[in-house]
Amino acid sequence: MVAKIKEKIINLLPYRSLRVRIFIIILTVGILCSVVMRYAIMNNYEERAVEQRSTTIQNQLMILANHLVSNNYMLNYNSQEQNYRTSKEVINAELELLSSLYEGRVMIINSNFKVVKDTYGISEGKIIISEEVIKCFQGVNTSHYDPEHGYIELTTPIMDTSATAENGEKNSGDAIVGIMLTSISAESIASTMEVLNRKANILETLLILGIVALAMILSIVLTRPFNRVIQAINEVKAGYSDELISVPDYDETVHIVDAFNQVLKRMKTLDDSRQEFVANVSHELKTPMASVKVLADALLAQEDVPAELYREFMEDIVSEIDRENQIITDLLALVKLEKKVQDLNIVSLNINDLTELILKRLRPLARKKDVEVVFESMRPVVAEVDEVKMTLIMTNLVENAIKYNKEHGWVKVTLDADHQYFTFEVSDSGLGIPEESLTHIYERFYRVDKSHSREIGGTGLGLAITKSAVLMHRGSITVTSIEGEGTSFLVKIPLTYIAQQTV
Ligand code: ADP
Repeated sequence: MVAKIKEKIINLLPYRSLRVRIFIIILTVGILCSVVMRYAIMNNYEERAVEQRSTTIQNQLMILANHLVSNNYMLNYNSQEQNYRTSKEVINAELELLSSLYEGRVMIINSNFKVVKDTYGISEGKIIISEEVIKCFQGVNTSHYDPEHGYIELTTPIMDTSATAENGEKNSGDAIVGIMLTSISAESIASTMEVLNRKANILETLLILGIVALAMILSIVLTRPFNRVIQAINEVKAGYSDELISVPDYDETVHIVDAFNQVLKRMKTLDDSRQEFVANVSHELKTPMASVKVLADALLAQEDVPAELYREFMEDIVSEIDRENQIITDLLALVKLEKKVQDLNIVSLNINDLTELILKRLRPLARKKDVEVVFESMRPVVAEVDEVKMTLIMTNLVENAIKYNKEHGWVKVTLDADHQYFTFEVSDSGLGIPEESLTHIYERFYRVDKSHSREIGGTGLGLAITKSAVLMHRGSITVTSIEGEGTSFLVKIPLTYIAQQTV
């Protein structure tokens, strides 16, 4: 369910190509970064420009505020005294100068929130109570930038230090006798911002073009190793090459290539063993045919062949045909065993009875070779097995023990079981198997001594058939042997058949 939903979401994504995805990711991240950077730089510049301008003017306003106090501008605003009038004019001139210098307007508000001076001359006598004004009367300088209308508004307290000293106030700071409400033009900042914006637009366009190019190059370069993997696999698929491939650029490509190489190696091994098997089969089938031809040619080459010689040659021809027949029968048995495990016909079987039956069948062969066959059963054994395949296993092992034995030798068959497995052991006093051959005896057509084996009718397929029948029962087969002394095969099979899990 979850997997289906996931698949649907993936299918909904516009592009499944890795290259397109890398391109989109780099492009998005690049554009986002350049836009954020542009806004950060522009905002920072604007803030700094406003702050610098505000601080410069604020300083001048503070100096002016001190002048106002020292000239009692606030206290005696309406006084007609000559001295005072002169100093008031001087200060008014200073205020006019400041406001024209900064293209602004200065208003002086007394403690009753009444405008006592306005450089524009339009608000004198009016009452102004705004948040900034109140805050300033509480001793806080305020500064506010209005980018939309292009001005900066500042409030500066006018403090009378002498009044504080007289009143003896301790911590409340200096007495605020009035405030200056100033608004100055921020046109210059706005126009600089406009120029900067224009430059930033050009730069940003160039940067985005660069990012598009970079995203295109990177998306091609980064996905190139995957293209190389596909190309190498296609070459193997088309049959141009069967070499192991190598694309060491990324860990990911190394893993993909490793997995592919392992599959390739397995295929090669299978192919090699198939070719070897076909070659072996053809060789084995050709040998008896060649003997038949030699015998028949010999008969044809002679005229007036005596009847006894005919008979003798014909007997040899029949024995070669028997041999050919035996090889074909064994091959068919092997092919059948290599089919599916489902072909097993599992039944509950008395193994003691089956062993007795097999030994009874093989006793004539043993007698012919003067080999004594002994059966030792430790306990009655009943197991779930395929009767035909179990017969094949036991017959092959006992037959080999008789065939590869010495004159007056012996074969001992022991049957035993525990709660899980039963064991079937066949020991003999025969020729034994050289140590270097022990690992090969289960291979198809492998014979320790080819000529001797052929003499006694071996095809080299018996143990291959036996092993594959044992494995089908999920059992095991082991061999111990001392050359010249004898051999012992031990087969171990579960009492209860364990069905193989189908994947
Ligand atoms: P074959 O049909 O030739 O007997 P097998 O596959 O049954 O083929 O055995 C393979 C080879 O293993 C035989 O050729 C023989 O040399 C050796 N071998 C098998 N069983 C015995 C045994 N009990 N004693 C000695 N050699 C054996």
